[in-house]
Amino acid sequence: MAWIHKRLTSVPPGLEYWTTTHERDWPEESHLRILENTFWLIPSQHRSIIDHVEFRGRGQQPRSGGGNNGHVIRLSHESVRARLNNTPGREFNITFLHEFGHLVDMHYQVTRYVMRRRDAAGRALLRTGHTGVTQMAGERIADCYMIYLLQELAGVPYQHPADPSAYRGEQARDRFDVLLQSPAFAGIAASR
Ligand SMILES: [Zn+2]
Repeated sequence: MAWIHKRLTSVPPGLEYWTTTHERDWPEESHLRILENTFWLIPSQHRSIIDHVEFRGRGQQPRSGGGNNGHVIRLSHESVRARLNNTPGREFNITFLHEFGHLVDMHYQVTRYVMRRRDAAGRALLRTGHTGVTQMAGERIADCYMIYLLQELAGVPYQHPADPSAYRGEQARDRFDVLLQSPAFAGIAASR
């Protein structure tokens, strides 16, 4: 499979995206606008963790949702076009934010930090419901990162499908505090 490399934005550092040579696989303008908007929501200290985004072609893995290898985020053909990532009034790609949460987790060893806390807040975070196919502890960290950025930084309420009460009120604050106290946010002035 041949790939075309492009730059998402003219504003440095920008983000490179790859798309296949098949025109039917190319992202639409609205998909690119939403991805760019989402990229700027990532704290600047974390942006360099990603190398590039791959807009996967029809029929390529993953078939739905997204994936990553620690430096590259793969967005399935389906997810880029899914309602989840194209909700009117919410210009953010939820799948990208979740996958970026995995990148941050791997880079800063957030899951390991949370497990080592051995406290109620850490355990509650690791026990949060999750709808995806993989049921690893890291999924909770990726969700927490995604929801923190959405709700607290962008001010966009997010209904967690598997565990709606986990990210409301005090329960949400407790989970965000664990994330903000982790090495991923050391030295970053957290806003909430
Ligand atoms: Zn995940």
